[in-house]
Amino acid sequence: MMSLIGKKFKYINEGNAHIVLHVTETNYVIRIIKENGHTTNLDTISNSVNFVNLVMVPLIFGSYNHSHEVITLSSEDIDNLHIELKEIRPKHRQVKSVFSKFAIKAPNLVMITPNSVNYCLELKPKEGYLSETFKKASKCYYCLKQFLKMSENQIEHRSEYCPLDLFSGNKTRMKRALLSLLRNPQNNLKLFKNENIVYNENSDMKDFEDFIKNSLFDSVNMFLDFIIDILLSNGKSNLIVKESPVLSTKKPETCIEGTNLDSKSFLHKLLEVQKLSETLEIDTTEQIIENLEYVPILLNQIKQHNIDLTNERDRKRFLTIVEDKYLALISAVAKDCSIMISYSVAENDNVPCVKLGEQSIFYRVSVTDLEPKAAKTLVKRRKTEQLLLQIFEKKLKT
Ligand SMILES: [Zn+2]
Repeated sequence: MMSLIGKKFKYINEGNAHIVLHVTETNYVIRIIKENGHTTNLDTISNSVNFVNLVMVPLIFGSYNHSHEVITLSSEDIDNLHIELKEIRPKHRQVKSVFSKFAIKAPNLVMITPNSVNYCLELKPKEGYLSETFKKASKCYYCLKQFLKMSENQIEHRSEYCPLDLFSGNKTRMKRALLSLLRNPQNNLKLFKNENIVYNENSDMKDFEDFIKNSLFDSVNMFLDFIIDILLSNGKSNLIVKESPVLSTKKPETCIEGTNLDSKSFLHKLLEVQKLSETLEIDTTEQIIENLEYVPILLNQIKQHNIDLTNERDRKRFLTIVEDKYLALISAVAKDCSIMISYSVAENDNVPCVKLGEQSIFYRVSVTDLEPKAAKTLVKRRKTEQLLLQIFEKKLKT
């Protein structure tokens, strides 16, 4: 059992399912599991952790580079958490305030070097290709979904961001993608400084320009070149980044897939996993009663066939062994994960470095939100696809 008693921690972020706390003076975070209406059992959470460690991370990175583990909190810990977090958590999140005694210990991705100034850009890139279903609309899932969100009043303005720009491998298009995210971040972009959010959907682009000029970069343009070169790298190499001209291009009416991604790049690997669902025939009309029951089955298959997903040959073998439905669920996780690019000027021998003019900036690319999704996700997705096409057709007629 790991006790939090006597340890100092900092509230970092909170999503629908987890609260992320950094245990100060360590390089890890604790992901507290919110459980309202259902109790998390140890098997489910161990399976979820193993799914992240043995399936998602090696599939995306080709290595086991950051592993998660399950810890148990004492009831005293949980009582203390309730008291200490009450003042800090946003009010709208406090409707879910029952915490599981099991929690996940994971690497702290927003920080790269302790006791220095650390920055981290979080990007939720979403689906980076034009799925077969939407070819007739010539618009990707994300861009179509913006129309739906507008019609449901979930957003005030449609985003100009198109994931196909980000995954195009073309630097001009990638810059347009990132600029669009900065102008209208929704939940797809956040910037942290020393674990505090300094830019998100509630921020102003003008503030961002000031912030960037007061950090390590001369301009937003230079910052974007830095991020783009990291996304195009394999995530492990030292890079030299030169500022490219500021270009403003308008978003075209249709979403077009690019073909410039290097097969060794980090983005290409992520896109490959996302595309797993494309060639599969998934019958979502058959009743899917299971939710996370597939996770232990999948893990068992890996064990039985002695599969190591960091190995290229085993990855191919894995794709032939595993049921299509499960591959589609792995793909769904890759379409909804977040990329974390943390950086700092503090010297760090364990990570690669970017030369930017006279400056050396140390960086690390990682991915978060890799927990397994419930099988009903596939049914929901199919329904949303149909709705998106209906909305699109209606829009064409008006
Ligand atoms: Zn698009």
